[in-house]
Amino acid sequence: MTVSIEQRLRERLGAARAAGRWRAPRTLEGPQSPEQVIDGRRVVAFCSNDYLGLAADRRVVAAARAALEDYGMGAGAAHLVNGHTRVHAELEDDLAEFTGRERALLFSTGYMANLGVLQALLGRHDTVLEDRLNHASLIDASRLAGCRTRRYRHGDAEHAGAMLEATAARQHSRLIVTDGVFSMDGDHAPLPALAALAQRHGAWLMVDDAHGLGVLGEGGGGSCEHFPLTPSEVPVLMGTLGKAFGTAGAFVAGSRTLIEGLTQFSRTYIYTTAMPAAVAAATRQSLAIAQRESWRRAHLGSLVGRLRQGLTQLGLGDPGVVSPIQSVILGTSRLATAMADALLEQGLLVPAIRPPTVPEGSARLRITLSAAHTETQVDRLLDAIDRLLPRDRRAHPAAC
Ligand SMILES: *Cc1c(COP(=O)(O)O)cnc(C)c1O
Repeated sequence: MTVSIEQRLRERLGAARAAGRWRAPRTLEGPQSPEQVIDGRRVVAFCSNDYLGLAADRRVVAAARAALEDYGMGAGAAHLVNGHTRVHAELEDDLAEFTGRERALLFSTGYMANLGVLQALLGRHDTVLEDRLNHASLIDASRLAGCRTRRYRHGDAEHAGAMLEATAARQHSRLIVTDGVFSMDGDHAPLPALAALAQRHGAWLMVDDAHGLGVLGEGGGGSCEHFPLTPSEVPVLMGTLGKAFGTAGAFVAGSRTLIEGLTQFSRTYIYTTAMPAAVAAATRQSLAIAQRESWRRAHLGSLVGRLRQGLTQLGLGDPGVVSPIQSVILGTSRLATAMADALLEQGLLVPAIRPPTVPEGSARLRITLSAAHTETQVDRLLDAIDRLLPRDRRAHPAAC
């Protein structure tokens, strides 16, 4: 007997609702900014990836507007047909220079870039080693590639090393893939150790630096500048443009051979429409601002320090995490949702992140900060968490 798709969907939707896993978008009025009106409610938002506060920057918007006049709205075709404008070419050159790589290639989204890289580089007999907490797009990418997949314990280079030993086989390639800064926990991958492993075993290392680029390093060069690591230690660098750079899209940077390989073989590059030229023009502008205005990183860093210190005093958070992503792990989906709802009542938008986005038992509040936040806003958040969180949920009681 067959089950109708309609019937199965209804059952699954019912189960998701019952499990407290229902998701729905909120509707935002106006641009990305800490103070915003969402679902008709005025809030201070702590959930944007607009880390440098560039998503609505007037200069970025003006660059897009000027390019709209010159190029119109739609790119009209894929890069390899005739959607690749002068602005796209210039942005690729800028990104190559910014990352210190020979070349860079634009993709429409980070999700597609990750799918396209693994699919283009790996075949059925090759192996990808993934951190267990890698972004969903990297996990899905190994499925599209149809390669063998091993997942090593989070942040555990030794475990990855053991897997490399176990998968050595002539004629087959290995790729280690990791987030640079993990999207849910905000911690760094052990990149120097992974890079050394990759070199020792003749494998390649790919870093998805969606949350590192623009944010880490003196010049915003991301995880590779932070550690630092050379282009030959990280042969495949993927970055997104919708986070710190405040626009949309993504890129992969690396050697001429890598980029030529992706151009010829990456299905998510070949079979999709190029991003609008206006987006590329806006990104050229925001990339320049992100590099030049290092005060944005300095202010963000000081806000992160303030938040970490406050959370530590409340017996919350992980003081080892120094990125603008700060998680307050609460355990159950029910408690995380209740806290998020209570904060929203106070005009503070902090999302509850629940399984399956994070592992079972690690439902949490995920706070992200931006250079556009003020110290007062961070203090208000800390105050509210202190007032609303049950005492028995803290790892250790406050010192005073
Ligand atoms: C956001 C994100 C992506 C996806 O990028 P989009 O451009 O939003 O599709 C990929 N990897 C990581 C780690 C991310 O945080």
